[in-house]
Amino acid sequence: MGAGAGAEAARQVRDTFAELYGGAPQGVWAAPGRVNLIGEHTDYNDGFVMPFALPHVTTAALARRDDGVLRLHSADVPGGPVELRVEDLAPQSDTNWTAYPAGVVWALREAGHPVTGADVHLTSTVPSGAGLSSSAALEVVVALALNDLFGLGIEGRQLARLCQRAENVYVGAPTGIMDQTASACCTDGHALFLDTRDLAQRQIPFDLAREGLRLLVVDTRVQHAHSDGEYGKRRAGCEKGAALLGVDALRDVAYAGLDAALARLGDEAEVRRLVRHIVTENERVERVVSLLESAGPRAIGPVLTEGHASLRDDFRISCPELDLAVDTALSSGALGARMTGGGFGGSAIVLAEESDVPSLTEAIEAAFATAGHTAPRVFEAVPSAGARRIA
Ligand code: ADP
Ligand code: MG
Repeated sequence: MGAGAGAEAARQVRDTFAELYGGAPQGVWAAPGRVNLIGEHTDYNDGFVMPFALPHVTTAALARRDDGVLRLHSADVPGGPVELRVEDLAPQSDTNWTAYPAGVVWALREAGHPVTGADVHLTSTVPSGAGLSSSAALEVVVALALNDLFGLGIEGRQLARLCQRAENVYVGAPTGIMDQTASACCTDGHALFLDTRDLAQRQIPFDLAREGLRLLVVDTRVQHAHSDGEYGKRRAGCEKGAALLGVDALRDVAYAGLDAALARLGDEAEVRRLVRHIVTENERVERVVSLLESAGPRAIGPVLTEGHASLRDDFRISCPELDLAVDTALSSGALGARMTGGGFGGSAIVLAEESDVPSLTEAIEAAFATAGHTAPRVFEAVPSAGARRIA
């Protein structure tokens, strides 16, 4: 399936909606997946992140209902529409995919918005479980559509907050605010510099093609599991670090004061490593912003690679497939490479000269074959638009 959300995609979604529900939808909306350029695991430490939107989108056709019925269908899941009642929605009552869109309806209603039901049909080109945030794309597209159909007047950042609440409370997955904000707020040709403490945003021009560069995503096809214990352990370790250092969040530990902070943590070896990653990662995000504004995208390669080493050695969330993708890219001429997303699988990103893309791709595929790993999916990531109505 192509990555675009053009007129043809919108027509197909409308047709399928009509077949499923026996009438035309009231509109079609699209919300993208995202890649995080830099700023990993900083979002639950009140820190900085820098995602950009992918051309890959989740597309939704919807019609509102006023009888309390919510019908949900995804082209990517076998079976007909699932029917729920909005009054019955309750956190962690659903372990299926429907918890994501139902959670959005629940979060909107909890916040006092009169959402009285809908018919929903979805389809997606965002790879699921690849660390590219198919879950946020799904939440945001449904939230944006309901916002329009019920005239709720909620702006992007607030919509992202409600989607995060749907994922944290209703689905029960403890994620930060980055993914939903990226899907809701990114713009074409830019990366989003986001301060997760106050949600202050700056769109930073990130036009790779003009510089003769490409950013490759290497989806290792290794499935991560956010809700497994590892994410929670890192999060708890960061909270412990903040408590031991007497700050609200690790964001408050200045890079200039890092050595002193680490010394205060004494023999808490694991907490020291986690703190060092978060504090240096926030500094890397700021460095990438200033390099993009002063020197252009070619200059950020080494910072991406430093970020990978920190995630591998200090935060310890890489895996053999991610390390192989990064190491092979770097030894084949990439300007920089790092794992991206939550870790333990998912995707790596590779910054490269356009002319090196074919040989780099081949080298990565060959290395995976030699190591006996499942063949990775390698594709180009062009910084694209955030969520919008498309028909
Ligand atoms: P990621 O967000 O990195 O892709 P998650 O585990 O957070 O991975 O979310 C993936 C889950 O989101 C899937 O297992 C599925 O439940 C749900 N999901 C995402 N996209 C779709 C879709 N198009 N149709 C149905 N469910 C989807
Ligand atoms: Mg997700």
